[in-house]
Amino acid sequence: MYFISTRGGEKVTGAQAIVQGLAKNGGLYVPETFPAVSAEELQAMAEMSYAERAAFVLGKYLADDLGADYLKEICEKAYAGFEGNDPVPLVKVDGETGLYVLELFHGPTCAFKDMALQVLPYLLKKSCEVTGVNDEILILAATSGDTGKAALEGFRDVPGTKVAVFYPDEGVAKMQRLQMCIQDGNNVCVSAVKGNFDDCQRAVKRLFASEEFNQKLAEKGVRLSSANSINFGRLAPQIAYYFSAYLDLWTSGQIEVGDKIDFVVPTGNFGDILAGWYAKQMGLPVRKLVCASNRNKVLADFFAKGVYDVKRAFHRTMSPSMDILVSSNLERLLFEISGRDAELTAKRMQQLADEKEYSITAKEKAILDEEFFGGFASEDDTVEAMYEIFEDYGYAMDTHTGVALAVYMNYREAVEKVDEKDKTPCVVLSTANPYKFPQDVLYALSGNDVKDSFKGIKRLNLLTAMKPPKSLLDLRYRPLRFKTVVANDLAKMSDLILRFADGEIVPVPDKE
Ligand SMILES: *Cc1c(COP(=O)(O)O)cnc(C)c1O
Repeated sequence: MYFISTRGGEKVTGAQAIVQGLAKNGGLYVPETFPAVSAEELQAMAEMSYAERAAFVLGKYLADDLGADYLKEICEKAYAGFEGNDPVPLVKVDGETGLYVLELFHGPTCAFKDMALQVLPYLLKKSCEVTGVNDEILILAATSGDTGKAALEGFRDVPGTKVAVFYPDEGVAKMQRLQMCIQDGNNVCVSAVKGNFDDCQRAVKRLFASEEFNQKLAEKGVRLSSANSINFGRLAPQIAYYFSAYLDLWTSGQIEVGDKIDFVVPTGNFGDILAGWYAKQMGLPVRKLVCASNRNKVLADFFAKGVYDVKRAFHRTMSPSMDILVSSNLERLLFEISGRDAELTAKRMQQLADEKEYSITAKEKAILDEEFFGGFASEDDTVEAMYEIFEDYGYAMDTHTGVALAVYMNYREAVEKVDEKDKTPCVVLSTANPYKFPQDVLYALSGNDVKDSFKGIKRLNLLTAMKPPKSLLDLRYRPLRFKTVVANDLAKMSDLILRFADGEIVPVPDKE
C-alpha cells in the first residue's frame, strides 16, 4: 500500500509516511486507495479480541510494510495496559431509542488519545527500521490537553526517541496540566506557550516546516516526527474502534450484519471523526457521522454553509480539547470530496493561511450533506445534556462527551422530523474519563461548584459511585517537574528544543 500527499507530488510507503509525518509540500499523507473489509472478513472479526481487531484493520494499511505478526504483537501489548477486561467497552444507555456510548478513555491517561498513542511508538520504531532511519526521533507535539499527555506516556523512555510537548498556557484544564507537568521519564520535555491552542499549534507547524531548525537538529543526529493526528500512524489505530463498536452491536444481537448505524463524535482537530469516515470507505455500514463542536463552531458552520471561516473570536470552554479553529485533518476529507484534486486542496490551504477562509462547491457540499451532520452545543446545552442523561439513566460523562450528547439530541430531533419511527442505533464516542474534568462535571450533574479539582473528584465519587482512576488521584501528591512558560516566539521555542536535543534539559522534581 502506498500513500500520497493531499497536495500532490509524492508517493511513499506506509513506513515512510509514518516516519515523515507530514509530506514535504506540507500536505497530509492519505492511502492511495481505501482497502476493503469484506462481509466475510467483518464476520471473522467478530470472534477476535479488541487487539486482534485493531491489528487486522491496521494490517489493511501497513501489513506489507510492518508485517501482520508484528502488528498483532504490538496491539496486544498496547491494549493490555488498559483498565478492565475490555479496553473499549460499548455501554447501552437507552435500548429503546438505540443510544450507546463507546468508552475510549480506559487507557493510561484517561482520554481517547491513548487508543492511538499507545500504538504509535511501536509503529514508528518499526517504520524507522524498515526505512533505514537511524537518527534519534524527536516527537514534537502541540496539545490542547490530551494529546500531550498521551504522547508523553506513549513515548516515555522508549529507546531512540525523545518527546517534547508545548501546551497553551491559557487553555488546558488543571488535571491535564498536572498530568503533563509531573511526567516522568528521561526523554521528555514539557513547556507552556503563551497564548491559545491555535497559536501554539501554528508555532509548532512552523517549526516542522523550518528548514533551518530541521537542519540544526539533523546535525545532532535528530529527526523531527509528529504525534498529532496529521501523522497517519496516529490516525490508523483510530479506525479500528468504529469496526469494533459495530461488531459489539452485532454480537450482542442489537443489529444484523449489514444494518447501518450512526456515530456521534466530539470533534476538535477532525482526526477522530475522519477515522470513522475511513472505516466507512473500507465498507463499514455507517449512515451518518455526526460532527459535534462546542462554542468554537467553525466546523458546524462549515457543514451548514460550505464555507470554512476562521475569522472569529476564539472561546475557551469546558471542553478544551475541542477548542480549535483550524482542524488540521479536514484537509484529508477536502482532498477526497474534491475528487482527489491535489492542486485544488493545496490552493484552499493557501487561501486558509492567507485569507482565513475558503469555500467548497455545491457538488462537494452535497457529498458532505449525505455523509455528515454538523452541529454544535453551547456551554449551557452541554451542561443540560449531561444532567439529563445522568438523571434519566444514571450515566455520567465528561464535558467533551457532553457536547456530543447535546448535538446527538438535536440530530435525533432532525431525524425524527423526517421519519418518526427511525430506530437506527447511534453510538456516541466518549473521549475522556469524567474525572479528568471533575469540577465541570460535578457542576453539570449536581449544580454544585467546588473550588478544587480534588474536592471535585471526591464529590463526584459520592454522587456517581464511579471509581476514580488512581493515576488522577495520585496527581495531588506528585511534585511538578516542568514549570517553563515560553513566549510564542519561534526562536525561543526552537532554542528550547535544541537544548533538549542536546540533553541539557532533564528537569528534576522540586523538593517538597
Ligand atoms: C482530542 C480530543 C477530542 C477531539 O478529537 P479530534 O480527533 O481532535 O477531533 C475530543 N475529546 C477529547 C477528550 C479529546 O482529547
